[in-house]
Amino acid sequence: MTGPSMTPTASQIAAHLDEVRTRIDKAARKGGRTGADVTLIAVSKTHPSEVIKLALAAGQRHFGENRVQEAEAKWAALKAKYPDVVLHLIGGLQTNKVGDALALFDVIHTVDRPKLAEAIARLGGELGVRPPCFIQVNTGEEAQKGGVMPLETDAFVTECRGLLDVAGLMCIPPVDDPPAPHFALLKKFARRNGLAGLSMGMSSDYETAAEMGATHVRVGSAIFGARG
Ligand SMILES: *Cc1c(COP(=O)(O)O)cnc(C)c1O
Repeated sequence: MTGPSMTPTASQIAAHLDEVRTRIDKAARKGGRTGADVTLIAVSKTHPSEVIKLALAAGQRHFGENRVQEAEAKWAALKAKYPDVVLHLIGGLQTNKVGDALALFDVIHTVDRPKLAEAIARLGGELGVRPPCFIQVNTGEEAQKGGVMPLETDAFVTECRGLLDVAGLMCIPPVDDPPAPHFALLKKFARRNGLAGLSMGMSSDYETAAEMGATHVRVGSAIFGARG
């Protein structure tokens, strides 16, 4: 493994990506699908452009960042150079940063309140963009975590559908819980709302997520090494 202070090499990044893709495919097959049904989002938050370029060179095109400003600094130039990159916002979004976020990100995974949905719809209209959006569900009902509460999810999905291109649901299970029940709950909510997208699974649990039906897994440290 690569420690926080060491910059990974090109061959390490390529090998990690290969390994993760292979594991996703294996897990997806257990659930009756294949790796082609699961989009691997390489979460590059905190990692510098030099490291991101190694993943780009290895063919990776979907990336995730959690902060708008950090992403702008790293990705404005990279997106110009790699126009086929798809950039996913996976961190909480403040209403006053929606304009900046829409100018850079292609997919938003963290819609969790009416004011945010309205701002994305309004500013998206002004900018002429309508990005696919995931609604974040706080499946563990944690006070400090973003996401709509489970009991409010159906109503919020309905509300968002009038405003946004709702691609699916997203969750981040509590760190100390087994993830599978949270993934199952998210899948149940998606099914009953007729939503195809499931953004779930991180480095520690992406195989479980891929087996259980994730369409998007968000994997950082298993690709780039530990964050410093
Ligand atoms: C950081 C982050 C990830 C990736 O975490 P790893 O454990 O490094 O794979 C995935 N999803 C969200 C929302 C994150 O903030």
